[in-house]
Amino acid sequence: MYNPSSLKAEEFINHEEIIDTLAYADANKDNLELIDQILEKAKERKGLNHREASVLLACDNKEKIEEMYQLAQQIKQDFYGNRIVMFAPLYLSNYCINGCVYCPYHISNKHIARKKLTQEEIKREVIALQDMGHKRLALEAGEDPKNNPIEYILECIKTIYSIKHKNGAIRRVNVNIAATTVEEYRMLKEVGIGTYILFQETYHKESYEKLHPYGPKSNYAYHTEAMDRAMEGGIDDVGLGVLFGLEMYRYEFAGLLMHAEHLEAAHGVGPHTISVPRIKRADDIDPTAFDNGIDDETFAKICALIRICVPYTGMIISTRESQAVREKVLKLGVSQISGASRTSVGGYCEEEPEEENSEQFDVSDKRTLDEVVKWLMEMGCIPSFCTACYREGRTGDRFMSLCKSGQIQNCCQPNALMTLKEYLMDYASEDTKKIGEALIQAELENIPKEKVKEICKENLEKIEQGIRDFRF
Ligand code: SF4
Ligand code: SF4
Repeated sequence: MYNPSSLKAEEFINHEEIIDTLAYADANKDNLELIDQILEKAKERKGLNHREASVLLACDNKEKIEEMYQLAQQIKQDFYGNRIVMFAPLYLSNYCINGCVYCPYHISNKHIARKKLTQEEIKREVIALQDMGHKRLALEAGEDPKNNPIEYILECIKTIYSIKHKNGAIRRVNVNIAATTVEEYRMLKEVGIGTYILFQETYHKESYEKLHPYGPKSNYAYHTEAMDRAMEGGIDDVGLGVLFGLEMYRYEFAGLLMHAEHLEAAHGVGPHTISVPRIKRADDIDPTAFDNGIDDETFAKICALIRICVPYTGMIISTRESQAVREKVLKLGVSQISGASRTSVGGYCEEEPEEENSEQFDVSDKRTLDEVVKWLMEMGCIPSFCTACYREGRTGDRFMSLCKSGQIQNCCQPNALMTLKEYLMDYASEDTKKIGEALIQAELENIPKEKVKEICKENLEKIEQGIRDFRF
């Protein structure tokens, strides 16, 4: 029985409810009256539920799709302005005991190089990331209690936060590790992580079990209920995601929204972020072997609808996607992107020799961070290196209520400008710096509160004099 506030996976992600939802969406995909009503409701900016959202996803009326895109762009503008938060993934270890058939780190892949960073190697990786200008990381590690126990992950996080190289600092560490126990989530919270990210991969239980034939991850319920345990352990910023291309995208989309509705119903706070990865080529993995791949147009529609359905949830896109695709979905609602990513273990310090391939997937966007920052600014976006909220204790429902009241805008805009200024002073090329300085001057005018604008101007001058790390 479907029950969004239940803590049982099969009740809050209920297969029959998804099947009924898809049938309802098919039956109404040409019902323009209903579609207009749903779009009207979406304009209130309070989100849509999985049924309403699924009708919009099924609708193939060109005019209505255009309306969805317009609305997504408007919501993006109202909630996130033209700011894009930057981050980079850091792969700690690719030892893994799971059998995920779509990931090259699965235990049976014998021709991939297995690596695990020592604390010394982490220092070198982090210095390389700081030297690019990164302030926010997403840690990645396979599941292997012997090689990557929680103690190892905690030690890595402490090492990362302790490294201060020149003006560099990693100020927020988000963590993407396997589903674990309440006690271990509590440890992660205590060591000061930002968001706990865990992709569901697929919400379709039968497919999930086929795609995860062995290892701890094969337990669908344990994996699906991970965010509930994370919240019980005190982590209130959690990041959802599915790997598009594994199961029918309409099923995944409904499941993803049901998961968001469940977090809201059971814990009073929805997901902090949603990631939208698509399956990519990698060692031992051929994406064409998965026949549920989605084309760029459908992908863009999914991004636009996520923006409309969960306006307060950040949306993340990685370098799996090409520059062209990233350009399109940035406008439709994406709020965070990675730049200059390496998806191999130790990849920031050294290029890997061909025979030592330890990448999790092929990167499509291979530009440097400076190139990505410049490209964003040339499109009128503000690259933001802001990490302020969790450092100021603005997490979970406190964060969400600031978002819902619109007050967060008084923090995001000045923080974006001040962290961009730091980037320009410490890491940017001359060209990028020139564009950035002009952008900062123009964007100062978009800070809503006069007082905040004044403080921001003063802080920009102090950054010019060499002082760092201002935040609202
Ligand atoms: S997806 Fe994660 S759990 Fe699965 S094989 Fe890859 S690293 Fe291991
Ligand atoms: S102020 Fe908070 S919500 Fe805004 S960009 Fe910074 S961390 Fe994100």
